[in-house]
Amino acid sequence: MNFEMNTATMPSLFIGHGSPMNLIEENQLSKTLNILGQQFNPKAILAVSAHWLDRGPVVQNALEQKIIYDFYGFPEKLYQIQYAARGWSEEMVHDLKGFCGSSLQVTNRRGLDHGVWAVLHHMYPKADVPVVQLSIPHKLSKNEYFELGRSLRGLRQKGILILGSGNIVHNLKAINWKSDAPADSWAIEFDEKVADLLVYKKFEQVLDLEKTSNALYLKAHPTDEHFIPLIYCMGAAFDSDSVTFPIEFIQNGSVSMRSVLFS
Ligand code: ZN
Repeated sequence: MNFEMNTATMPSLFIGHGSPMNLIEENQLSKTLNILGQQFNPKAILAVSAHWLDRGPVVQNALEQKIIYDFYGFPEKLYQIQYAARGWSEEMVHDLKGFCGSSLQVTNRRGLDHGVWAVLHHMYPKADVPVVQLSIPHKLSKNEYFELGRSLRGLRQKGILILGSGNIVHNLKAINWKSDAPADSWAIEFDEKVADLLVYKKFEQVLDLEKTSNALYLKAHPTDEHFIPLIYCMGAAFDSDSVTFPIEFIQNGSVSMRSVLFS
């Protein structure tokens, strides 16, 4: 397997992963992820998740990818779920450095976190698409994260699906664990503000939200690791892409489950 095969351009796809309970619940997320998986036939997946920040860019790759159960206090059956995907070939990872830069480190020790495998569990339940996970470097500016996403864009033309996994609104202190919790107005407001900017591809304004809507931004993201994967996905968008939302709902009162498809 190498990058030279002829393959259709794959999308840049941001998924709101929300609660680990989505692993076992049948809802709009699980059903739509399954449909999206059938819609696209990537040669491989490069995933960026809110749950892996590191000192620099590191790629998790292994012949057989392990998964991390990086969530606590959930029903035992969630910890029984397996997701045994393969990693990329060494040749592909070597070529990835051409996109990410030679400072890219490779590790096989971490595994894929639930931001990645909980999504792929519904998208590609057979785990038959090779996947690697790329870390998010700490403390960069929004523009720098956007540029990291931009550096990955060309992979899409080589049959690689760029998958970002986070949430457009994510404030753990505001979560209401009741499954039928009504959506908070501030969560709707931020979610719709981001959606309106995305539709018109006003990416710079999305990057500036922390400055232009500071109080609302901080309510939506007391820490912004769940927002950053969206920035990678915006960076990986082509000018010719349209922006659509395959999934739109608020879960647990304030967690935006909006997914964004750039294709
Ligand atoms: Zn998360």
